[in-house]
Order: sequence, then structure tokens, then C-alpha cells
Amino acid sequence: NDVDTFKARLESLVVPERVQSRIDDELNKLSVLETGSPEYGTTRNYLDWLTSLPWGVTSQDQLDLPHARQVLDRDHDGLTDVKERIIEFLAEGTFKGDVGGSIVLLVGPPGVGKTSIGRSIAEALGRQFYRFSVGGMRDEAEIKGHRRTYVGAMPGKLVQAFKEVEVENPVIMLDEIDKLGQSFQGDPASALLEVLDPEQNVDFLDHYLDVRMDLSKVLFLCTANTLDSIPGALLDRMEQIRLSGYIAEEKLAIAKHHLWPKLLKRDNLPKKRINLTDAALKQVIEGYAREAGVRQLEKQLHRIVRKSAVKLLEEELETVKISVKNLEEFLGAPIFRKEKVLTGEGVVTGLAWTSMGGATLPIEAGKVHSLDRGFKLTGKLGEVMQESANIAYSYTLGHLQEYGADADFFDSAFVHLHVPEGATPKDGPSAGVTMTTALLSLAKHHAIDRPLAMTGELTLTGQVLPVGGIREKVIAARRSDIFELILPDANQRDYEELPDYLKEGVTVHFAKRYRDVADVVF
Ligand code: ATP
Ligand code: MG
Repeated sequence: NDVDTFKARLESLVVPERVQSRIDDELNKLSVLETGSPEYGTTRNYLDWLTSLPWGVTSQDQLDLPHARQVLDRDHDGLTDVKERIIEFLAEGTFKGDVGGSIVLLVGPPGVGKTSIGRSIAEALGRQFYRFSVGGMRDEAEIKGHRRTYVGAMPGKLVQAFKEVEVENPVIMLDEIDKLGQSFQGDPASALLEVLDPEQNVDFLDHYLDVRMDLSKVLFLCTANTLDSIPGALLDRMEQIRLSGYIAEEKLAIAKHHLWPKLLKRDNLPKKRINLTDAALKQVIEGYAREAGVRQLEKQLHRIVRKSAVKLLEEELETVKISVKNLEEFLGAPIFRKEKVLTGEGVVTGLAWTSMGGATLPIEAGKVHSLDRGFKLTGKLGEVMQESANIAYSYTLGHLQEYGADADFFDSAFVHLHVPEGATPKDGPSAGVTMTTALLSLAKHHAIDRPLAMTGELTLTGQVLPVGGIREKVIAARRSDIFELILPDANQRDYEELPDYLKEGVTVHFAKRYRDVADVVF
């Protein structure tokens, strides 16, 4: 009978005293209740949960650095600095004797391998892995459970995780922690803090379970695309590891060593029957998957595999060869053309950094002939960006002669500044230098005739201030084949710290004041 089943389950567990006494109470209750009654059902259900959690059961951590390196290298190409951070983290754990109680945040654009490196961390440690997304959650009961008085009450995700993994020390991944604020009921920060904070999570209370659980042996990994929307109290307690996106060469290696073999294996297709040339693969990366991560690339490669499978069957071929020549038969016309360098008076390429990774951001200034002077902005710019556009306008207006333009150029001109693409929201101060250059290029009738991109905040007095996301921006510039950059002088260290393969072939000018920028551009 039920009572015996539950008792048998407890034999191999080390149940904490307070939990044991609750279980005993409930068992006594069960034995006097009528088997068919609703209360019997709920009590039975409750006991089922209480007795199927891994009280006192832990797995042995495998804190073995060579093994960890091997697992990380086997599953992921590149990401050298990320892997190194993980190794450091494990080395610390070796001395502390434990990696539990830590919260690691993997942050970066979509498809760069956050979730998949999380899995590898668990595997390297020899721990069970459980993952759930907090992104789509509507109320805090999904984390902390419903009170038992609710009809159909259930414990929250954390308790569910423990039942599934059958140990007290799994790796639990909370995906999309940056998307939690928008859809959550109640106070999102405090619900998550209870789970994550080492000072609170030793006695985490799930509403359904109604007995305290120790979450402190769990290694929490969180993932996010941006830091902006993560509550400060949470962010403070996390170890951040940044993944910033791949350049074409890295994508090529990832595709060859991981994505392509994985796709073929999944469909049980022998490697020699589908022959994708290196040149064609490069073309897929350039023409169809120009993103920070590799998810689109994976999708496009999957399309090639599907179409090849059809060809193999219908045309009864022994092998299919995909080369640059016939690639369009498989994928259609390229989505991205080789980017032509934007030219023209008033057109300048900036560098932006969003949750999707780095991006090049062309900025256009145009003169609308009219008798009014004035200034107009379009392109869905956020408040900060509008302010920096205003600063750019004022600064340009005040220094026309100094930079060799007609002093009265703007006197009878209505100026329009536009940042394509118009429908994508943009914000931040880092385009100040770029907007100023666009305005000056217009006033000086001087088109910029070479691939050149810039970023930097500008003050009203012409100082160039540092900006974030240097690494992402350099990657984005390379992706657009731009190898000459202007960066704020104060970002020099960020740039120097980049790995060599990102800096190779890049010419950088560092600017302290706007004068330095103008000297490079004009
Ligand atoms: P999102 O923010 O959208 O959740 P993510 O960063 O979690 O994205 P993943 O799902 O981990 O992205 O990665 C997408 C795919 O790319 C996976 O199949 C993953 O294995 C593969 N991948 C990403 N980076 C690498 C890499 N460096 N080496 C090998 N495979 C990789
Ligand atoms: Mg993910």
C-alpha cells in the first residue's frame, strides 16, 4: 500500500529531522483517511513529492582540470577566454572543495553557445544538469510553487528539478534571466534572490512543499542577452562571463568541426555523400548568416542537408556536391550582399552594441533646403541618443570654421539626421562622434571615400569619452570588412586586451578630442 511505498523510498535517504517529522505526521494522517476521499488524494500526492526528493543525496564532483579542459574543448571551438574563466572557476572550487553556492552568468548575443557551454560545464564537473527558462514565466508560483490549498497545486520549478535529477547538487541553468522583468507577477527580483542568494537559499521555502530545502549545493548558471534589465541586487551576486560573438573564421571552424558533422549524424547521412566545399561554406557565412552567433548558420546548413537528401533520393545520386556555383539552388539568393561601402556627403559608419551583439550603424545627415534653420532626427532613437545628436549638432554649429566648413552653412539649412534601419530602436551615447562626423562631412561637402567606422561619446566641449562593447564592435566591423577604426582614447586598454586574431590587420586611431577624429577622417 501507499504508506509502505513511501516508507520504502525513505530508506536510502538522509531526511532532515524537520522534514521527517512532517512526513511522519502526514503518514499518520494517510493511514486514517478513507482511501477514496479527496483528502486522501491530496495527502498522498503531497507525500509522493516529499518522499521523491533527493534528501541527503549528492554526486561526487569531478574537479579535474585536464578532464574539464578536454570536455570544454571537445564540444566548443574557440571561446578561449571563456573556457579559461571556467577553468579558473573550477580551480578555485578545487581549493575550496566545492563549487556550489556560486552563480555564474553567461551573457552574450543569441546563438553564441551560452546554453551549450553550460551543459559542458555540468559534464566537466560530473554533475546532473537541469535547465529551465525564466523568460516566459507569468507568475512567481512557477518558481516557488502554489500553496497546497489550491486545486491542482504543484511545487515550483526548483523542487521539480530536484525530483528529476535525484541529487541535491545539480547544475541548474536559469535561461533568459534578462527577460524575467517584463512578464513576472509580484516582485521578480526578490523571488529570484531567494533562490540564488547564498545567504537566503540555504533554507528555501517552496509554497507547496512547505518545508525548507537547502539549495546551497546547487551550481546556478544563468544566461542573458543583456545586463540592462537584470536587477542590480541579482547582478551583484553573479560571476559574469561574457561571450561576444564570432568572426567569419571562427564560424567556419565551428561549422566544420561541430555544426555540419552534428547535422549529418542526426540524419544518419554518411559524410562522403554530401560534399560541401570550404568556399561554399564561406559563402553561406557571408551571404546567409551574418549574425553574432551561429544559430542562423546552423539553420541554413540544415536546409542544405534537407535539400541534399531529396536530391540523393530523387536523382538517385551517389553524392551531392555543394559548391559556390550551385549554392543558390539550395539556399536561394543570398540574404546579405557584400556590403558596399556607404559613400556620399554626410554618410558615416558608426559602431553599435545591442543585445544581438555588435553591429555597424550607418548614419546619414542631409540638408533640406528651406529658409528655416533647424534640426530633425529620425530612426527610432532613444532619449540618450537624441541628446547626443543634439550635442553633435551644437558642437558642429559652433566649430564649422575650425574644421574648414562655411561658417554660415547651417544658417539657412534645415538639417535632417537619420539612423537606418528606421524600425529598429537604438539608444546610447556612443554615436556622438559618428553623428558629428556626418554633419561635418555634409557641411564640408566631403564624402568619406574609404571603409572606416567609429564610435565614441562626445561632450559639448569636444572631448571623446569611452564607450562599452569594444570587443563586440570590433567583431562587427570585421564582419562588414571594415579594418580602419576610430575609438576613444580611454578605450585603448580594452582594445589592447583583445585576442590577436581580432586585432590582426586592423588599424585603430585613438581619439581624445574631436579634433583627433577630424584629422583622421578629413
Ligand atoms: P540564446 O541566447 O538564443 O539562448 P545560446 O547562446 O544559448 O543562444 P546555444 O543554443 O548554446 O546558444 O548555441 C547555438 C548552437 O550553436 C548550438 O548548437 C551550439 O552547440 C552551437 N555553438 C555555439 N557556439 C559554439 C562553439 N564555439 N563551438 C561549437 N558549437 C557552438
Ligand atoms: Mg540559450
